[in-house]
Amino acid sequence: MNKKEKLKIGIDLDDTLWEYQLVFLNFYNKKFKTNYSLKEFSVYSLEEFLNLSNEEVVSLLDEFGSHPGFMNLPLIEGAKETIHELKKKHELFFITARPPSRKELTQEFFLNHFGLKEKIYFLGGASSSNLKTKGEMGNFLGIDLMIDDHLTNLKSCLNYGIPSFLMDRPWNKEEEIKGIKRVKNWREILELIK
Ligand SMILES: [Mg+2]
Repeated sequence: MNKKEKLKIGIDLDDTLWEYQLVFLNFYNKKFKTNYSLKEFSVYSLEEFLNLSNEEVVSLLDEFGSHPGFMNLPLIEGAKETIHELKKKHELFFITARPPSRKELTQEFFLNHFGLKEKIYFLGGASSSNLKTKGEMGNFLGIDLMIDDHLTNLKSCLNYGIPSFLMDRPWNKEEEIKGIKRVKNWREILELIK
């Protein structure tokens, strides 16, 4: 691990701090009377997994955004405790690819669940101008370590020399890459950073 005492740590929101795909799948199953399980979710792309067009996915995600389940996404075990622990010593940056239209709602959700009023960075949002990838954003913020569940995001970080922890999820099993360490849970992350 980095020898620096105080690290700048970039942290993803959906499926890193709280369950997203799981709740979305429940919403989808109910709506279409299907029976998909999270374990089957072996590709990151909803289009590919559900065999839908991009327009259909965009419209479904839009509908999901005003669904009660969306405001009640369950936190991933250990996330809250670890964030509070890491905050004592390190600088945390919360970075999401959610659309900027979800900004207020996301900030409110974060405050309610973590009890912290943190700035959240939105990729492609007005304040981040044209920083579109996690790598670009991480580089801009001077991040030392990124935590995410999406391999593509972490590969873009690696392009800027930013190492990372990959949250082990069904959709990111396909590759093991040097500089991207697969982790099982938040407890393991805390141990590794210590
Ligand atoms: Mg994510």
